[in-house]
Amino acid sequence: MKKVLITGGAGFLGSHLCDRFLKEGYSVLCMDNLITGNKKNIEHLLDRDDFVFLEQDVCEFIKIDGDLDYILHFASPASPIDYLKFPIETLKVGSLGTHNLLGLAKAKKARILIASTSEVYGDPKESPQREEYWGNVNPVGPRSVYDEAKRFQEAITMAYNRQFGLETRIVRIFNTYGPRMRLDDGRALPAFVGQALKGEDLTVFGDGSQTRSFCYVDDLVDGIYRLLLSDYSMPINIGNPEEISIKDFAEEIIKLTGSNQKIIYKDLPTDDPKQRKPDITKARDILKWEPKIKRAEGLQVTYDYFKSIKS
Ligand code: UDP
Repeated sequence: MKKVLITGGAGFLGSHLCDRFLKEGYSVLCMDNLITGNKKNIEHLLDRDDFVFLEQDVCEFIKIDGDLDYILHFASPASPIDYLKFPIETLKVGSLGTHNLLGLAKAKKARILIASTSEVYGDPKESPQREEYWGNVNPVGPRSVYDEAKRFQEAITMAYNRQFGLETRIVRIFNTYGPRMRLDDGRALPAFVGQALKGEDLTVFGDGSQTRSFCYVDDLVDGIYRLLLSDYSMPINIGNPEEISIKDFAEEIIKLTGSNQKIIYKDLPTDDPKQRKPDITKARDILKWEPKIKRAEGLQVTYDYFKSIKS
């Protein structure tokens, strides 16, 4: 049985990865310090013999007994309000935490996959974003704690690959949604659904013309699974290229929830990217992957989940 360590395993993406790897027959070590993760996300796994939960901060030395085949590093605050609330933790987990995990991968001769982000492109001047685009990032703005940590993370990962021949994979994740997102994580989808459920107006930041491209979590997890098992070590975008303005997205949520709410406009946060859409040519060619789940379908499942945790 292959063994995989998933850091951030009690988070939104991490917990879905735990499910997928268990389903594929792996034994899973799930590590999380629970600052933004939640044990509820993995509650259904805790009694299994092939699943172990370790409450630990990856910035501390990591000791794992026995063999390890794969590491997936998904520990990090990842929504704008989370990383603004935990700026130092965000910088540390992307840098010191990643360094620890690369050291662990080297010691165990394990393959390691690092969760990077479309934030490495900053407020991109090119759209769609290709992996070769180097980005337009403010190194000292409030979002820099996340963006620069993730850029450093990519750099140190490539350095371990080049210097030690470590088997590394880098996924650049675009906006993803689905069950187990936190209603209070401040992202557009949970914010809008939460507001609609409470009968409040939906807060669109700026004029709502900024775009995002939303990928359903099962599609993303499948792309990550394929990337880990591929032999491609340069960064690769995984996301849904179907782009929508935030204003139109808010209107979709109003329709979905059947609420009579209005849209109200608030200030755009500092350095909020104006456009975001992945070029997924590489994922299509190299991983034979593309998203399958339409937004209407994914949003319905996610809405049902939010309703179920509210009641
Ligand atoms: N947004 C919004 N209202 C909200 C929350 C977010 O208009 O209540 C906007 C936000 O400014 C951004 C987009 O929705 O332009 C997506 O934000 P999110 O936090 O989901 O992810 P980001 O892509 O910014 O990391």
